[in-house]
Amino acid sequence: MHKIALAIHGGAGTLVEGMMTPQLETRYKKDLRFALDKGYKILENGGSSIDAVEESVKNLENSPLFNAGKGSVFTASGKHEMDASIMDGRDKSAGAISLIGGIRNPISLARDVMQKSEHVFLAGEGAMQFAKELNYKFEGDEYFYDSLRYNQWQELKGTDNFQLDHSLKKDSKFGTVGAVACDFEGNLAAATSTGGMTNKRYGRIGDSSLIGIGNYANNKTCAISCTGSGEFFIRAVVAYDVSCLMEYKGLSLEAATELVIHERLLSVGGDGGLIAVDKNANIAMPFNTEGMYRASKSFEQKEEISIYKN
Ligand code: ASP
Repeated sequence: MHKIALAIHGGAGTLVEGMMTPQLETRYKKDLRFALDKGYKILENGGSSIDAVEESVKNLENSPLFNAGKGSVFTASGKHEMDASIMDGRDKSAGAISLIGGIRNPISLARDVMQKSEHVFLAGEGAMQFAKELNYKFEGDEYFYDSLRYNQWQELKGTDNFQLDHSLKKDSKFGTVGAVACDFEGNLAAATSTGGMTNKRYGRIGDSSLIGIGNYANNKTCAISCTGSGEFFIRAVVAYDVSCLMEYKGLSLEAATELVIHERLLSVGGDGGLIAVDKNANIAMPFNTEGMYRASKSFEQKEEISIYKN
């Protein structure tokens, strides 16, 4: 029997510590704890890592505090376009969706692409059609509305700028969510979900739905979920790079993730972080920003919930 572990994130970025009120910090930590507990219970009861990561991400998507599902950022045309992906390290099966709207839990649609279609990645109208065929319920724009996200968009509307929802701005919030897990069988899984970046162009796809970049799982190495400026993560092929460093160079989870986040991603100018777990239930959560909303728990480590550097 293997040791179990679960790590989750709610986005990485630059958040000035003084801007966070104790009340807000308590709300973030409460929602992180809730999502962590939901996923961890599945692992404790002998469930699979793929079920655990989907469950944790669904709960983060349901929280308006994070930029995924409810509370997703606004695009340049004032809409929400969500991306998500999920991967099972047992057989490297994967599912991803991009540019979708109206669906409460994009991560479940990504899982359905993995399990109920012959494809790995469906985008836009095709992904929505697939959801309709599976009788997904579609929500109106009001379900996804969040006043803070709206104000962030108002500041950028009409410009060519787009930004992480956790930029240097005073009122910014962190965003994208993800989970990685190792179950009693030693199977690894990863899930990532996002609303993307505020004021992004129609049709822009970030790293979160790209297998091997924002999300990856391979039982031989690790499970990874990333957060940060997607354009840089794509160029640095972040998640697969960590896995390759472990597989081909024999690096530990910690060494591989540190190298990728603090050297290789930085070398292309990228900011952000990732969460990772290996088959021995080791957990790594490096980031090169001021903070990253994160929580973890394992067989031998009690629950830890943090925002800033420890
Ligand atoms: N990586 C996401 C994207 O570029 C944004 C984030 O992590 O907050 O779409």
